[in-house]
Amino acid sequence: MNYVIPPAPIPAVPVAGSADSFAVRRIYCVGRNYAAHAREMGSDPEREPPFFFCKPADAIVPVAPGSTTDVAYPPQTTNYHHEVELVVAIGKGGRNIAIDAANDHVWGYAVGFDMTRRDLQFDLRDKGRPWELGKAFDQSAPIAPIVPAGDSGHPTAGRIWLTVNGQLKQQGDLSDLIWSVPETIAHLSKYFELFPGDLIFTGTPEGVGPVVKGDIVTGGVEGLGELSIRIV
Ligand code: MN
Repeated sequence: MNYVIPPAPIPAVPVAGSADSFAVRRIYCVGRNYAAHAREMGSDPEREPPFFFCKPADAIVPVAPGSTTDVAYPPQTTNYHHEVELVVAIGKGGRNIAIDAANDHVWGYAVGFDMTRRDLQFDLRDKGRPWELGKAFDQSAPIAPIVPAGDSGHPTAGRIWLTVNGQLKQQGDLSDLIWSVPETIAHLSKYFELFPGDLIFTGTPEGVGPVVKGDIVTGGVEGLGELSIRIV
């Protein structure tokens, strides 16, 4: 096969404790999946069906353990927000996946940030427009190495947290997810055929807020490690 331009690099996330990488196919994200965060976004956290948006696969910024990786403050915003999330890495694809079979489709888990241009997101939301400009920009998905489910198990509880310059900003527990990971996979797979390599960002707990250049943003999920970025 002769390509008229060189193919883009394959976006990939390192696997924790290994020299291997997880090639990323798509990034799906769940909106408003913790009640307290739904309230702070001005929504009723009643258990409506989950909704989804996407980021491009090359929005990921792999962050090595123990390092602080530079992430550029994005253009066209004055309200750039952090959201710490549990990320699910799909290892076996499928459609119409049953809730009680969903864990069999998970390859591993990671902690990641769904970075957001909140001013653009709210403006688009209020006008009924798609969210891409607010959510799907370059470097909008920093992520720690993926922990194989064989090592982590399938976490249903555990602390999720984020600090900015050492100050605690977000804190919650995976048991507070409105839609559990298996329920999210089951629901998403009704709308999209999932494939190995898909990532699902499962939503953020309360306490989202702005970051500025120079800030160090650190987040973690109990049992899955943590990641740190510097906004530059
Ligand atoms: Mn989010």
